[in-house]
Amino acid sequence: MPKEELFWNPYRLIPVEKVHDKKPPLSHEVFKGKSGTFKCTLKNLTPLFIGKNRNNEKNFLTKNGSPVIPGTSLKGMFRSLAEIVGKGCFCVDNEDVPEEYARCKRINQLCAPCRIFGMMEKGKNAKVHKGNVSIGDGDLLVGGDTVELQILLANCGTRHEPFYLSQNTGELDWKSRKLYFHQPKRKKDVLLLSDYLRKRALPIKALLPGHVFTFDIQFSNLSQEELNLLIYVIALEDNVEIQLAALEIDTLRGPLRHKIGHGKPLGLGSCEISINEITFVDTSSNRFKSLAIKENQVLKNEELKKEIEQRTKKYRDDQSLTMRQFRKMMIWDENDPRDFRYPDHEWFKKNSQRELKVI
Ligand SMILES: [Zn+2]
Repeated sequence: MPKEELFWNPYRLIPVEKVHDKKPPLSHEVFKGKSGTFKCTLKNLTPLFIGKNRNNEKNFLTKNGSPVIPGTSLKGMFRSLAEIVGKGCFCVDNEDVPEEYARCKRINQLCAPCRIFGMMEKGKNAKVHKGNVSIGDGDLLVGGDTVELQILLANCGTRHEPFYLSQNTGELDWKSRKLYFHQPKRKKDVLLLSDYLRKRALPIKALLPGHVFTFDIQFSNLSQEELNLLIYVIALEDNVEIQLAALEIDTLRGPLRHKIGHGKPLGLGSCEISINEITFVDTSSNRFKSLAIKENQVLKNEELKKEIEQRTKKYRDDQSLTMRQFRKMMIWDENDPRDFRYPDHEWFKKNSQRELKVI
């Protein structure tokens, strides 16, 4: 879509690599890997909305009267990033998925995201690998005001169909994944919908930027590689510079940021996630044999920063096509001048050429 237009389509499909390095997860009976806890915060940078599991629910999900981000939403977000960065399988049942991208079938042969986040076999005597992380709910730490907005219903139109279309051909190829651009201009409002889309829109009360949530991630028995991948998809990158081959802008600078909740095409849900403390628990069998029992290792401030830098270096240095495109989608530059919107019904009627701008 709109190659010749000034506006940008809100999402892109980025090419991903085939599943890499399948193996059994570390067994829970023998603790050889790393275990511990991350203490994290999430601050929303654009309006944020997570509804209850009911249609036409306009209020934000609450727990004990306060807005809450469910741990399952956080887990889903980190997993989908790990599938891109960590060369994971497509967790769908569709026989068109090429074998080298297809979902893991047995719990003793798992891609890294399945080893970290869990996987369920299919069919008779199906076994379950529960995963080696557990993510708590995001509880409200700093509150603020809400804003009334309109968003499109999640499963209105084509929810699944465009997810894996190739950027080049627009065809389903199961070698691409969908990501939404950040829209830093959308701090207080979101894009007004056209009359055509408004008919399918849902009025909601979103949280204005500046709300802060706190949550814990517990991990157990992760290999060094798995831990590094997990840390990368939480911490992402702080300083990225990107060259774009577009008329209105050539360079973007800033950190990579996450997106969570509803209304991503309209700019909702951009957020900053920080790891504020890591505790490594010593679970090795040596602990019980040794006279010198090790204490838990707690990392904060400079020590923590160094640990995260070391563990994410491999990913930050990765200049593969997937990672270059990933950064172009995940960058948050306050001065990003781009105007994102879906082409409207009229535009589609007039234009047969639907090629996307090059990023
Ligand atoms: Zn897998």
